[in-house]
Amino acid sequence: MTAVAETMDYAEVVERFDPVLGLEVHVELSTNTKMFCGCENRFGGEPNTHVCPTCLGLPGALPVVNGLAVESAIRIGLALNCEIAPWCRFARKNYFYPDMPKNFQTSQYDEPIAFDGHLDVTLDDGEVVRIEIERAHMEEDTGKSLHVGGATGRIHGAEHSLLDYNRAGVPLIEIVTKPITGTGARAPEVARAYVTALRDLLRALGVSDVRMDQGSLRCDANVSLMAKDAAEFGTRTETKNVNSLRSVERAVRYEMTRQAAILVAGGSITQETRHFQEADGTTSPGRTKETAEDYRYFPEPDLVPIAPSREWVEELRGTMPELPWERRKRVQAEWKLTDAELRDLINAGAVDLIAATVDQGASPADARGWWVSYLTQQANKLGVELGELAITPAQVARVIALVGEGTLTNKLAREVVDGVLAGEGEPDEVVEKRGLKVVSDDSALYKAVDEALAANPDIAEKIRGGKVQAAGKIVGDVMKATKGQADAKRVRELVLERCV
Ligand SMILES: [Zn+2]
Repeated sequence: MTAVAETMDYAEVVERFDPVLGLEVHVELSTNTKMFCGCENRFGGEPNTHVCPTCLGLPGALPVVNGLAVESAIRIGLALNCEIAPWCRFARKNYFYPDMPKNFQTSQYDEPIAFDGHLDVTLDDGEVVRIEIERAHMEEDTGKSLHVGGATGRIHGAEHSLLDYNRAGVPLIEIVTKPITGTGARAPEVARAYVTALRDLLRALGVSDVRMDQGSLRCDANVSLMAKDAAEFGTRTETKNVNSLRSVERAVRYEMTRQAAILVAGGSITQETRHFQEADGTTSPGRTKETAEDYRYFPEPDLVPIAPSREWVEELRGTMPELPWERRKRVQAEWKLTDAELRDLINAGAVDLIAATVDQGASPADARGWWVSYLTQQANKLGVELGELAITPAQVARVIALVGEGTLTNKLAREVVDGVLAGEGEPDEVVEKRGLKVVSDDSALYKAVDEALAANPDIAEKIRGGKVQAAGKIVGDVMKATKGQADAKRVRELVLERCV
């Protein structure tokens, strides 16, 4: 394998092969407690402080299903147009690994709670691709291992490993697509667009905070290639835990070029898991992939089956929030956007953020202005997506309100946003801490105006003589003296008042 060229030119790959994708997305639910015990479900915390006998797998501890997690699973299933199983069970997925203290993961195997759905995904140019959903099932997250002493942070070469079970037992939903075929050269883009659409959907449902950077949304990308004339799928690899939208696209693309080079050289693909390397965009081999038989699944004897009544399912269907595609249709009409304008906002990841800002009381024009100009510039500067900026729609709405009520000028408002992005607190706190309020106290302004006039007697004379346009220089000086914190219009009024 080492003798072959490492990757093939992408254009040649798609000329010779058809890619087949399978995407598995794990989403951590934002319930208050874990899946089978009452431990707090919260990111971070001192290691091994959110644990109890159940999630540590101590002998005799018995699990109880988190009802809200089941409800979230059903809502996700409904939003993905799935059938909801009238009866299903949990299963034990048996394996030994230190981050799984029970030596099995409680998951669902052949009886998922939701199955046979689809999600329509819009690509950057507006083309819609329907992704078929195989299943969405419930399971629990594992703990976290921290491998210390090695160069890569992985177990290979490490001196010792630390274990944190705070995450063990956190409710997870795994959403699995059917094989995605026929996407050709656009396969990497389709993969990214699907995970983006799924993230937006899960966010709209309010079931998860969908932070890829914190691992609450994780994607495993299965990729295989089939020669143009082949009748069967090729051997696939599974690239694990790709942790940004851009990485999903890069990982799929890299795997396509890597596998093609091996196949063309007469080699064969090893079925294995692989790790994505953020730094250079390549993947490297992990463990050889287990098959389902290796896990010796069997129905979980400590939990009763889940049998959601049809009435409950219909009740949940009736309380679904506005979903992203419904919202897009509505805002296009309300904000009077052309198809191209809407698509630009969608591609910028701005629609939901603008809508949420409007929900917090801002006008659509103001909300759109902030998100597509200044905030987009800041996101580009930081190399993050708009939605990853450390500012919430509510905070943007507050900044807009402060401008509206005259407390801030647009320039000061940008400084407040900078402060929020820098972690200095809520907009009002930043205004306070940085002393950014518009000087609206007329006595302070009169003083600055008088000083400016006294320093420029010739100009003052001109204004008194009727040359009103000469006031610009004085207004400029006052603005400088008040560090831009005065309202220029008011300053001008005061200058003219002083010169009559
Ligand atoms: Zn627990």
